[in-house]
Amino acid sequence: MSGGQVTPHNLFPSTIMARMTSMQLGLENMTIIGNELALRWTDGIESYFPLEFLRKRCPCALCAGEKDILNNVYRGTLALVPGSFQLKRCSVVGGYGIQPEWMDGHGSGIYSFSYLRSLDPEVA
Ligand SMILES: [Zn+2]
Repeated sequence: MSGGQVTPHNLFPSTIMARMTSMQLGLENMTIIGNELALRWTDGIESYFPLEFLRKRCPCALCAGEKDILNNVYRGTLALVPGSFQLKRCSVVGGYGIQPEWMDGHGSGIYSFSYLRSLDPEVA
């Protein structure tokens, strides 16, 4: 009786490799609907972010602050005005994130896809 022997090349079937590649998150579509940004991901999920929600979570150093060695966070004193929550434009950056440009002129925050997806459950 032999049977049940697994040959080495069967340990890494090509289907697993294909699945790993498709797991890399991408953005399929991006639309501004009213005061929300609608994103459709390559895995079929759709996310809707109110613009004010997004702006208040801007990940740039000026908005999110920078930590010193003692973990104190220093935030900039950027004032939010009504135009802060309106988009002038929004572009995809390097296939890994989006960079919104707001009506108040601020536009240095890059929201990575993984950051956006981590924010998604916070939107009620
Ligand atoms: Zn910012």
